[in-house]
Amino acid sequence: MKHIYLDNNATTRIAPEVLEAMLPYLKDSFANPSSFHSFGNSVEDDIENARKNVARLIGANSEEIIFTSGGTEGDNWALKSAVRINRNRTLVVISSVEHPAVLEAADYLREEGFRVDRIGVFQDGSLKMNDLRKAVGSDTALVSIMTANNESGIIFPLEEISKIAHEAGAYFHTDAVQAIGKVAIDVNRMGIDMLSMSAHKFHGPKGVGAFYLKSGIRLPRFIHGGHHERGFRAGTYNVPGIIGLGEAARLALEYIDVETKETEKLRDMLQDGIIRECPGAYVLGAESPRLPNTVTMLFSGVESESILMLLDMKKIFVSSGSACSTGSKDPSYVLLAMDIPQNDANSAIRFSLSRYTTKEEIEFTIETLKEIIKKLRNISPFT
Ligand code: PLP
Repeated sequence: MKHIYLDNNATTRIAPEVLEAMLPYLKDSFANPSSFHSFGNSVEDDIENARKNVARLIGANSEEIIFTSGGTEGDNWALKSAVRINRNRTLVVISSVEHPAVLEAADYLREEGFRVDRIGVFQDGSLKMNDLRKAVGSDTALVSIMTANNESGIIFPLEEISKIAHEAGAYFHTDAVQAIGKVAIDVNRMGIDMLSMSAHKFHGPKGVGAFYLKSGIRLPRFIHGGHHERGFRAGTYNVPGIIGLGEAARLALEYIDVETKETEKLRDMLQDGIIRECPGAYVLGAESPRLPNTVTMLFSGVESESILMLLDMKKIFVSSGSACSTGSKDPSYVLLAMDIPQNDANSAIRFSLSRYTTKEEIEFTIETLKEIIKKLRNISPFT
């Protein structure tokens, strides 16, 4: 085994089919899709085909899809633009466990004079729905709650949340970056007005994503400078990236059953094996609905940094939190929001699988972890 990659919530490998689909656009099919000649037109057709595949994945129409540079851009767009539609509404409601792209965009809005309400979560990771109901009212411009959390994998009840937002006349945005390709999403059934996604989280290339904007919602332009993307977002198309995103979306739709069943089986095998072989280990948010590929394990009293390092030496790659907080020794804000005791929060390891994860890799990881935790517990002053 070369290495074992169990950090797919940070990023995923590009699917071979995606790479194959992209290559011609890095070589011979280099035309600008906005050009009027037939060379440009043929690339434009391929871009529109990619748009169709992205739309199909979430039950949208292709006219509702706008290509972006990824999840961070989509989240910024939703927050900063939605509050400009109805200026009498000055409140934005988010959760305390959103990705920094939402949290920091909300901080920016606060500096601009808007109010921001952060809804907390219970210890099992579920959203405090009563607090959400109380917070959302006639002053609410936007409710933005992620589809699933990147660290815990916990899935939020979007249908219920969008209903609360709509009853108050607010728009509903969801950061679906971690959920796309892992759980079925239907923007109409779920009452989603805006959605952000990112190709590199589901075996597409980095630096490209899409924003779903329900038809009829008139957001202000986000990037000025041309008429690309129906005037919403100017800039020459990232053609290879968009083609890769389209192919990744097509594959995601094809694989979604495999992903939910096979990946979940391996994920459960991993978490059961760890609980069996590593006394004291437990699953974060075990009782809540979770992404089929994600499990965060807490190894009370054993420092996650040490586990990470020893796993790394065996070429097993995992995360001790979200990729964005790597490098910081502070416990993750998501775990703190879940009221996980600091000693446990410092021991969290996130394992995130993909369609390429194998049973042999999971077996090897459990065996390796068993030895690592035994060794660390023997030298830990806390156990
Ligand atoms: N939202 C969530 C939930 C994420 O996990 C990430 C990436 O880690 C992002 C947004 C940012 O997406 P991108 O890397 O495409 O900017």
